[in-house]
Amino acid sequence: MTQGSATQTSHGPDTDHSTVTGLRTFSYGGGWQSTAALVLAARGEIDFGTFLFANVGADSEYPATLRYVAEHAAPFAAAHGIDLFELHRTRRDGSTETLYGRLMREGSRSIPIPVRMSNGAPGTRSCTADFKIKVIGRWLKAHGANATQPATVGIGISVDEIHRANARRCEPHERIVYPLLDLGIRRADCPRIIRSAGLPVPPKSSCWFCPFHRLTAWQDMRRDEPGLFDRACHLEDTLNDRRRTLDKDPVWLTRYNAPLSDVVPTADPLPFEDGDGTCDSGWCFT
Ligand code: SF4
Repeated sequence: MTQGSATQTSHGPDTDHSTVTGLRTFSYGGGWQSTAALVLAARGEIDFGTFLFANVGADSEYPATLRYVAEHAAPFAAAHGIDLFELHRTRRDGSTETLYGRLMREGSRSIPIPVRMSNGAPGTRSCTADFKIKVIGRWLKAHGANATQPATVGIGISVDEIHRANARRCEPHERIVYPLLDLGIRRADCPRIIRSAGLPVPPKSSCWFCPFHRLTAWQDMRRDEPGLFDRACHLEDTLNDRRRTLDKDPVWLTRYNAPLSDVVPTADPLPFEDGDGTCDSGWCFT
């Protein structure tokens, strides 16, 4: 079993934003809500000077998200005196472990992502905990957070997704807060806030293979990024080849109990929107 720690890449001035009340950090996912939070922090409308981007892997995050962070979010943070740290999960030997790497590891028996069972329900996942929550938690501990001096961690849940605020996990050295809820900000408000700072609106952030994707997101990928779509099909096939040898039922990246390439339409627009297209924790898709 690998035991990860966190390595970091600094995208900011590395000033000391700790105070007598402990570290104040924001979990940055590279999506609409956390980028809006970055803008609000730059304006002084919320009090967060450190943003932590738990990158689940250069081969795992949606490529457009990584481009956005490098080309827009990081320069913006630096220009406004905000630390944006990119964190990675590392093994005991110091090497970086990525979520895609764990999924594709030869002989692996567990599936850390919320693949769908034959009834469409997502399976239990460990990806968010292992590659985001624990990675950020370790960084916070390494920077002085403890049970008597917990770090504040802002999560970018907006008021229209308030149900996600009830499903978070909390460690003794962390205090989770939802600044967008306090300000009454909806997801639909985020593009205006982001554009008002001169930033382009980021793509929806997630892993490109996430089984929480809506069917419309898969359809967009198949049309606009066919190479990435083929990789997702290959991942699904690989997981099921492995399960077949273990005499286990197949699992899927969509809720439709069939291979991705059969389920996702190639041309016609979908007549309906399916599912909620997000995860329930607020650590991903924000
Ligand atoms: S985006 Fe999906 S696959 Fe990636 S860490 Fe979050 S829940 Fe897991």
